[in-house]
Amino acid sequence: MEKRVLGNTGLQLSVIGFGGFHLVEVPRKEVSLLLNTYLDRGGNYIETAAQYGDGVSERKVGEAVSHRRSEFVLATKAVDRTRDGAMTSLERSLKNLRSDHVDLFFMHEPQSVEEAKKILAPGGAMEAFTEAKQAGKARYVAVSGHGRPAGIQYSIENHAYDVLMTGFNYFDRFNFPQTEEQLLPLCLDRGVGVLGMKALADGYLYRNVATGIRYALSLPIASLVLGMNRLDHLEQDLKVAETFTPMGKEEKEELYRNAPELGRYVCRQCGRCRGADGIDPEEIFLLEGLFDRQMNDYTVPDPQEYALRERLKHWFDQKDWAQEQYGKLRNKVDPQQDYSALNDLCTYGIDVDRKLKIAHSKLTGGSYLF
Ligand code: SF4
Repeated sequence: MEKRVLGNTGLQLSVIGFGGFHLVEVPRKEVSLLLNTYLDRGGNYIETAAQYGDGVSERKVGEAVSHRRSEFVLATKAVDRTRDGAMTSLERSLKNLRSDHVDLFFMHEPQSVEEAKKILAPGGAMEAFTEAKQAGKARYVAVSGHGRPAGIQYSIENHAYDVLMTGFNYFDRFNFPQTEEQLLPLCLDRGVGVLGMKALADGYLYRNVATGIRYALSLPIASLVLGMNRLDHLEQDLKVAETFTPMGKEEKEELYRNAPELGRYVCRQCGRCRGADGIDPEEIFLLEGLFDRQMNDYTVPDPQEYALRERLKHWFDQKDWAQEQYGKLRNKVDPQQDYSALNDLCTYGIDVDRKLKIAHSKLTGGSYLF
């Protein structure tokens, strides 16, 4: 499998990393088969977290592959924001993983700037990370997060983290565009290694697995972490990696235009309708993306699709923040006004007038009648 360099760490990682979240629900025997097959096929990055099943995922990883420890780069995460809590978490993780060190020790999901500051403050978790590095229990310190990247961006800007892991996919690319447009270049500029995850938007892109993986791997990331809880998933993902060719600009444009999950509803942030009619639809739709990832379009999908959207739309728990920001906007949507002149400006076929009223309804806690 192709290997890429993880920023200034110099570690060479296989382009597909094995994510441990789903191992909680996989029986131990199958975990062993999956992880050993992954290593046999050239994979060399395995990641988990203390929180995944309260240590269950780590214990399964330790049991399955600790005898092959020198063959892979191992990562785990701590969620505690205090020095003592993070240190206790790491000690427990090492025991679970049957290893005397991890290669990457992640600060798990500082979602807000306030959380990121708490980690870096005196007595905060970063003290434990630094001590762990000095003691050889963690080779590199890393930060992970998803959704609105405010907390992780602050972390990278204000501390010398070695590695970042966050979500990259062609759907949330339009809900959290700062991730690709600001955070990724910032990391590359500073030599921070970048790992991708959520290439299928938490499963929402399940019909287009190969495209989702190809899209993420076409970005300048070192490795893409995937959850693979069946052997056929593993085989399928490895095949995409083994036959990988990067997506060019034109192919990406075509994907943005035709991806069924984006359809005639998700705003592609092209800016064509900006400023017309005295409002900025792009800005409002960005807030809608934070509110529910633009998943509820008030159409009537089949029951499975509906259930999936209901499960995933508030996955990142940012709806209150989005409503608060909309409350501060000067130019809000007037539900009585006709904005249909904007529809002609949208080359993606979005009914901008209808979408503005839906977004307004979501962001003001109302209910859109359809
Ligand atoms: S023209 Fe369409 S895609 Fe572009 S910003 Fe407006 S609504 Fe979004």
